[in-house]
Parts: sequence; C-alpha cells; structure tokens
Amino acid sequence: MTQRRSYDAIVVGLGAMGSATLFHLARRGVRALGLEQFGPEHTLGSSHGDSRIIRETYFEHPLYVPLVQRAHELWRELEGVSGKSLMKIVGGLMIGPAEGMVVSGTLRSAREHRLPHEVLTPREIRERFPAFRLQGNLVAVLDPRAGYLDPEACNREHLAGAVAAGAETHFGEAVLDWSTSGDEVRVETRSSTYAADRLVLAAGAWNQKLLRGLELPLSTERQSVFWFDPVGSDALYDANQFPIYAYEFKAGTICYGFPRLPRGVKASVMHDGPIVSDPERVDRQIRDEDVEPLRAALQPVLPELSTAPVREAAVCLFTNTPDHDFIIDFHPQHPQVLMSSPCSGHGFKFASAIGELQADLITSGRTAFDLSPFRIDRWRR
Ligand SMILES: Cc1cc2nc3c(=O)[nH]c(=O)nc-3n(C[C@H](O)[C@H](O)[C@H](O)COP(=O)(O)OP(=O)(O)OC[C@H]3O[C@@H](n4cnc5c(N)ncnc54)[C@H](O)[C@@H]3O)c2cc1C
Repeated sequence: MTQRRSYDAIVVGLGAMGSATLFHLARRGVRALGLEQFGPEHTLGSSHGDSRIIRETYFEHPLYVPLVQRAHELWRELEGVSGKSLMKIVGGLMIGPAEGMVVSGTLRSAREHRLPHEVLTPREIRERFPAFRLQGNLVAVLDPRAGYLDPEACNREHLAGAVAAGAETHFGEAVLDWSTSGDEVRVETRSSTYAADRLVLAAGAWNQKLLRGLELPLSTERQSVFWFDPVGSDALYDANQFPIYAYEFKAGTICYGFPRLPRGVKASVMHDGPIVSDPERVDRQIRDEDVEPLRAALQPVLPELSTAPVREAAVCLFTNTPDHDFIIDFHPQHPQVLMSSPCSGHGFKFASAIGELQADLITSGRTAFDLSPFRIDRWRR
C-alpha cells in the first residue's frame, strides 16, 4: 500500500547540492523532504574522495568569484553551527605558461575582483614550496585564500543541520518519476507517492533520467583519482609547504592535487576520462594504465610525486555541460521544478552558496546572484 504525504518542497538527491539545499530550506521553516537512492556517504556519485579544492581566483571565469566568496562565508558559518572543521585554507598555486588559460585566467579574475595574489618565479616557488620544480617557461600565481574542503564532512553537516531544523531525509529511496498537476508536483518512489509545491532535481549524473522530455546537452565523464605515498619525504607534502595546485600541462588541460591527507597525497588529471552513457554502467575498476597520464602530467612540476607508489585510487563522475558552466534554472515546461546541475568538475566549492541560492529560488523565485550564464535556454538562443 503506497503512502501519500505532502511537503512544501522535495529535493531529489542528497549529494553536495541536494544536502546544502535541504539545509537552507529547512532553516527557513520550509517543510522539506530529501530523497536519496543510495545510503549516506556513498561513493557512486560526484561528492566522495576526502578533498575538494576551493579557490578564490577563478581562471574559468571571473563571474564565479562572488559565488565562491559567499560559499567561503557559508562554509565558515556551517563550521560554527556544527563545531566541525570543514575547510582548510593552505594557499593555492595556479601553474602554467604565462599566456595559458590557467595563469592568464587567474590573473584576470584577481585583477577584476582585486583579489590578493602573488606571481612567483620558478626559483621563488622552489624556496617556498620545495616539492615543486617548475621547468621551462612555467609561472605560478599564488592564491592565498585557496585550500580544500572535506566533502563527506560538508555533506554530513548540511544533512545534520537540515534534520535538526525539521527536514526529513529518506535514504535508499530512489525517485522513479515525477509529474505536475496544477501547482502541485507528485513524486513517485517504489514505496510512496509524495506531493509538494516545489521540486529540486539535484541528482548529479542521474539528472538526465529525470528530465521528462527536456533535452539538455549533459554528458557523464568517468574520472580517476589517485592517492600517492611518496617515500621518505613526508614533510615536503605537508600543508605548510605544499598548497593545493592546478597545473595546465597542455593547452586547456590541467592536473591538480592536494597536500598530504590521511589517505595520501591526492592528484588527478581533469577531463581526461571516457564519456559514459549511463551512470549505472560506469567501469569502477582502476587499472595500472589509468595512472600513467597523471604521472606524465605531474613530471615537469612534481618529479618525485610523479614516480611515487599509488596507495589508493577511486572513480568519480563529472556531469559536464559543453561550456562547463552550471545549470541552475527552472524546468521550461514545469516552473515548480528547479534543475540543479553544478558540476563540470568544479561545483563542490560552491555547494554552500548554491544551497542558499536554490532555497532563495524555491521560496521567492529570485536570488541576488546573476544566474544568466547557468540558464537552460543558453543552448536555444
Ligand atoms: C574526481 C572529482 C574531483 C572533483 N574535484 C573538485 C574540486 O576540487 N573542487 C570543486 O569545487 N569541485 C570538484 N568536483 C566537482 C564536485 O564534486 C561536483 O560538482 C559536486 O560533487 C556535484 O554534486 P551534486 O550534488 O550535483 O552530485 P552528487 O554529489 O553526485 O549527488 C547527486 C545525488 O543524487 C542521487 N540520486 C540520483 N538519482 C536519484 C534518484 N532517482 N532518486 C534519489 N536520489 C538520486 C545520487 O545517488 C547522488 O547521491 C570534483 C568532482 C569529481 C568527480
């Protein structure tokens, strides 16, 4: 016998975006339900793996800077509410040829928003961050407000805060379908039918299955990440002399990494994975050859790390748009339904601010942020 319950808002997917949205809705007194197909802290989506870069300079586009600044404030606020450490600011090196996307884009965002930064020569880098050796004509821009977040802890604390403020969460309950009737949205799961005034689709790589006829140019990309275990040089990778980094090793392509954390020294090449047709059918097995492109990419800047043994590896999913900007917009045929796809490999840092602005959109239809770059109709103009 199916049950039928009503809410002000239902959030589908309790990863980074869904848990943050549920938190901000519940704090405003919205009667909200969060539905998640898997268990808490699963490793099948986009939000696992112990670390996510946050940086204030934004080589992709300066438009992201106000959003990351608000996210930074909200991560600190969530730390205050939860009493947990979620974000470590250790500085960040944006490395590449002077005219490349990373260095020129970082400088553009820093200048437009008057952000603190330093341009460092290879020699200065060596003195301050001895694991790094910049070969050839590489330069680095230091972003002193960059660092990393603990994604599992961030999601956990958003969910704990949401529940404390009155939200319901159901894990292991996949949304099979949804429909609208008048102003109401109905959401079907195997065990229940729910009704709500508003629906947020924050299903990550599974969003495409829930679009109800809407064609969006989203693609799912398999990413592999590695935790190295450099032998005999532990202090070199400590956060006080090893910041987060993004290195443009060929035009438009970066590898990135983190200081040593308990699992090891994590690094990955961005956007080098195969496109997969279905998140259910991703090859989750890591093979020896998966690490070779990363070793080759790291070699000119982190030669010792590039040959270190791998301690652990994981597969994670990107949901990409063609321009790598996000989708945050109402469904064109169903204005009660908010589409949330802030990925393309760089969404996590913003999750706290996106949760807040999505709660704004659900409760008032408006937000102070300019979301025009994230509109669905950008592919239809
Ligand atoms: C390897 C890797 C490295 C990254 N590095 C960074 C970084 O350094 N900095 C940064 O800012 N960003 C980074 N990102 C991007 C960032 O992690 C993502 O933008 C973010 O995690 C996306 O969150 P999400 O909530 O959209 O998706 P997810 O966290 O995947 O959440 C979607 C949830 O929806 C659930 N779901 C799906 N379908 C249903 C259904 N039908 N019913 C119920 N539940 C459903 C899923 O199970 C999942 O839990 C990285 C991503 C990856 C993969």
